[in-house]
Amino acid sequence: MKNNFSALKSRRKTRVVKVGNINIGGDNPVRVQTMTNTDTLDIEATVEQILKCVKAGSELIRLTTQTPAHVKALGEIRKILQEKHNCDIPLIADTHFNLDSAYEAINWADKIRINPGLFANKFAGKKSFTDEEYQQALNDIEETLIPFIEKLKEKNVPLRIGTNHGSLSPRILERHGNTVEGLVMSVMEYLNIFRKHDYENLVVAIKSSDPLVMLEANRLLAKTLDENDMDYPIHLGVTEAGMEDDGRAKSTIGIGVPLMEGIGDTLRVSLTEEPEKEIPVCYTILQAVQRRITKTEFISCPSCGRTLFNIEKVTKKIKEKLSHLKGLKIAVMGCIVNGPGEMAGADYGYVGGAPDKVSLYYQGELVKRNVPENEAIDELIALIKENGDWVDEVVV
Ligand code: SF4
Repeated sequence: MKNNFSALKSRRKTRVVKVGNINIGGDNPVRVQTMTNTDTLDIEATVEQILKCVKAGSELIRLTTQTPAHVKALGEIRKILQEKHNCDIPLIADTHFNLDSAYEAINWADKIRINPGLFANKFAGKKSFTDEEYQQALNDIEETLIPFIEKLKEKNVPLRIGTNHGSLSPRILERHGNTVEGLVMSVMEYLNIFRKHDYENLVVAIKSSDPLVMLEANRLLAKTLDENDMDYPIHLGVTEAGMEDDGRAKSTIGIGVPLMEGIGDTLRVSLTEEPEKEIPVCYTILQAVQRRITKTEFISCPSCGRTLFNIEKVTKKIKEKLSHLKGLKIAVMGCIVNGPGEMAGADYGYVGGAPDKVSLYYQGELVKRNVPENEAIDELIALIKENGDWVDEVVV
């Protein structure tokens, strides 16, 4: 789909990070992921939930692995997915701050996530730092991380360094406060250590429950990475976004705006709902910002006193029949007075022409006038077929 709007910036250049059989970054599509909310030790429930998420379209799955036992359960889950369900979805171990889990995860996971605010921090609880203590804290972290980095390199396992707005280290809080700069510094401290030790198989993330913080932080992160010649892909997500409309609206702002600005190579929408419900929201955001087109784009007017048919009912019917036509833009407009002008850019238009009569448009041109309403959807399908834009729905 073409667009000429300056609000949509070209995508930031990033390296490709291979996670199992999925590539993140570079020219790959912006990847959609979610996270299970079952106890990972409950293998049966976790497998069942993963399969639901895969069916909904998730391309990667993250699991909570707070202890080495949870990491081993991830290994067991993978085995069942592969052997019983022929499912090879990449599995990510979220080890947050547990170094033992992170080590164990190298043996089982396709990618590991650590939180730098909490990970390997021997100075937890300390409120103020002299310059020497600050440097000492960084040296300690580096020393702790070296064997971990060497093992990651040996097994070629990628890592996400993911900071959350609620879990900055005391060291960062003292120097930068709970600020956007602090969030970026928290990530940069770790990236510098990993780069120094020649490991750059990295994805980075900064998340916040406040979409505006998330937006500012990711802008600064992308700028800082670029200034340091670090082309690591960025993972986007608004944490604790909530549920229903609130969660969806916050996620759309916090994730959608950076995507429009060219920032972001993978995303998760975090809802207080079943994880499979997050997936359609991810794809809808990607489609809305034109970063990944996976379905038909529908434009429909809100209806008003001029509307010549039940637009809600008709739009629903058209969506049911045409939602699989990836990349097409179809407009459903209530009247011929304003409809044609307001559906600019649509490939096809279904417009109320007179009572019980519909006019059909192709590329902005009126091609079928006064089609009886009860035949209009079939006529629209025929028109799409005539123009070679029809495909049969793929049944998976
Ligand atoms: S397209 Fe026509 S019916 Fe629809 S909102 Fe505009 S004026 Fe009203």
